[in-house]
This record gives sequence, C-alpha cells and structure tokens, in this order.
Amino acid sequence: MTRDDAAALDAADPLAPLRQRFRIPPGLIYLDGNSLGVLPADAPARVAEVVEREWGQGLIRSWNEAGWIALPQRVGDKIARLVGAGPGELVVADSTSVNLYKVLAAALDIARAGDPARTVIVSERHNFPTDLYIAESLARERGCELRLADTPEAIAAQLDSRTAVLMLTHVNYRSGRMHDMAALSQAAHAAGALAIWDLAHSAGAVPVDLHGAGADMAVGCGYKYLNGGPGAPAFVWVHPRHVERFWQPLAGWIGHAAPFEFTPGYRPAPGIARYLCGTPPVLSMAALECGVDTVLAAEPLGGMRALRAKSLALTRLFADEVGSSCPGLALASPREDALRGSQVCLRHPEIGYPVIQALIARGVIGDFRAPDILRFGFTPLYLSHVEAWDAARHVAEVLRTGEWRRPEFNRRNAVT
Ligand SMILES: *Cc1c(COP(=O)(O)O)cnc(C)c1O
Repeated sequence: MTRDDAAALDAADPLAPLRQRFRIPPGLIYLDGNSLGVLPADAPARVAEVVEREWGQGLIRSWNEAGWIALPQRVGDKIARLVGAGPGELVVADSTSVNLYKVLAAALDIARAGDPARTVIVSERHNFPTDLYIAESLARERGCELRLADTPEAIAAQLDSRTAVLMLTHVNYRSGRMHDMAALSQAAHAAGALAIWDLAHSAGAVPVDLHGAGADMAVGCGYKYLNGGPGAPAFVWVHPRHVERFWQPLAGWIGHAAPFEFTPGYRPAPGIARYLCGTPPVLSMAALECGVDTVLAAEPLGGMRALRAKSLALTRLFADEVGSSCPGLALASPREDALRGSQVCLRHPEIGYPVIQALIARGVIGDFRAPDILRFGFTPLYLSHVEAWDAARHVAEVLRTGEWRRPEFNRRNAVT
C-alpha cells in the first residue's frame, strides 16, 4: 500500500470527524490508547465546571442537585450500551483489580453454595498479572486453587466438576489475542462453572455482547479505550440472575440499601448498586463520562460495528506494512481478524525496549511489555490510516538507521 492509498481510505472514512472530539498534540502518532486514552476535548471544561460550579459553589448540595450520587449508575448505563448489558445492570466504581475481587469472591460463594467441592478458579498463565494476583490472594484466603492454562487452546480442558469459575481477559493485554467469549462461557457452564470476563482491552475497542455471549460477570477499565483519564474508575457488571444471590465482600455504605439511614447492620442495595463500596470519585467520574461520550458519539455513525471495521483495517495495514519492511520483527498478535483485538504486537528477542524509546522520541507512542513485546494500540475513534502507515515507516527507519542503539534509548524508566 502507498501513502496515497492510505490517504484515500481516510478520505472515505465515515468515522474521521470523531477525531475532533479529542485534543491530540500536533504531530504525535498516539498508539497507546490501549494503556491511556487521549484527552477528550470536552473534558477540561467539564472537569473545570464540576470543580468551580458544582464543588466551588454547590458544595455538599451537589450530591443531590448536580446528581453526584447517581454518577456510578449514570455513567454505568452509558458503558452498558457498549458491552451488551442492560440499563441498571452496570456501575462504575473502584479499580478493575478491586472490582475483580468483588465478582470473583461472589462467584466463588455462588459456586460453593451449589457444590462445596467446587474450589478451583481456572484462568490462563498469560492473563494480566493483577487478575492473577487477585485470584491468587482469594484462593489463599478461601482455601481454593488457581489453575492456569498455558495456551488459549488448553483452557477448555482445564474445566471440570471442581471448577467454580472461569476467569479470563477477553482481549489479551500482551498479544492482542481475543477469546471467543460465547464459546468459553458455554464451556464453563457445561462444566457447571461461572464465567467472569475482564473487558479492560475490549470496552470501547471491540463489540461485546455480555448477554448474548452468556457471561455471568464482567469488569473493565475506564482509562484505556474509554478515554476516562489517568486512574479513571473502572466498571462492574453482574448478570441479573446472580446479582442478588450474594453479598460482594467489600460491603460499604454506598452499597447499602439505605446509606443515609446510618444503621449499624449491612443490608445490601437491590441490584448492581450493592457492588458499590465507598463514595464515588466525582472529579474522575466527570472526566470518565466525557471519555465514554466520545465512544458513544460513534453510535449514529455505526457504533461499535463501524469502530471495529476501522480498527481491523488499521491494525491490518500496520501489521502488513511492518511485515514487508521489517523482517527482524515477528508479528506476535493474530493475523486472523476474528482473533485480534484492537492492537498489534511485534516481538524482538533483544531490542524491543530501545526501539520503542526511539519511536517515542520520534513522536510515535507505543509501549514495551517485558520481556520482548513492542505493543501498538489502535483507537479507531481518532487514528487515521495515514498515521498507521507513517508509524510503520518510522519503525522501519528506527531499525534501518540503528537509532535504537543510542544510550538514552537503552535506560529503563519505571513505567515502560
Ligand atoms: C489495565 C488492566 C487492568 C488494570 O487494573 P487496575 O486495577 O485499573 O490497575 C486490569 N486487568 C487487565 C486485563 C488490564 O488490562
């Protein structure tokens, strides 16, 4: 493909106007929206308004008058539209790690109430570490076992009559490989287990249909493809058939049926509200709402289906161009569209880290995931085909010129 071919794709791209909804530094090719989404253009004014007017002037009255207390549900209902959940079924709260703790604990309770011998959590060794750490700590706390499949293909064989829950991340953070949520949820159910899905790299990136796929519970991240800002709160969904069966373990006052009765005993709120714990972070939620609105802005233009089609075109373009110009880099994400999320990963046994640093110095932002992965996330809301093409050319030039050898590109930062 030539650069002109890429420009022609941009000229015909119905989603191109969505880029105006973001503030992207000029000249930057940002391929890290899978780690921290870019700033929505509406967010600075909205956050300033919440600070100056709602907080500054309204003060405590704003819990009611500005609707602060309902933010977890209001923003939750917007995210629900992106992941195939119903209204009133999903709330924004805490971090992904904390929400995973809540749903995993509830799932273990549900499974063991049915059969006390169900004590195994099945996941995969290449899952995101925090997911595994949370599962490991719950397994210790409850005398359960964490069983890890070494490959995606080996997961189903790990499920048996002792399995309580299958806990997976839908799109792998490192490889970009996407699971078949419906098939694996069904496999979990066939074994008598529940299915929990982490949508950190899915929500706002690929179409998700939690109800259609038969998922039982899900969590996801606010600061990646939802563009909610650094440390944005996360979300949690529990299927209505399970939501009132158990307490989640972090019973806090905001998840109480009547927080302002200040009673000494806990009574869980009906529905998903019981998965709230403490006071919502209002400033962060205001920013997150702006981010979620950027994704919802695609709805009149074809929504997640249209975003997915563009995302696949961008990742295919980038992978093809790098493939033809950089023989030293192996493609580490699936070539097959149905198996690939919204990112492209390349592998090099030695020089991944300095190559990424050299690219960042050129204004092409990707990231490095140890030990050997160069990771490039493609957010179809704001990226163009020309940017994907240019990024591939930069990768080729960094390799051809040996620029990555410079000492400053070989010093490790704390965040890679
Ligand atoms: C990014 C990510 C998280 C982040 O969890 P936090 O609690 O928000 O830090 C969790 N799980 C997966 C799979 C992720 O990709």
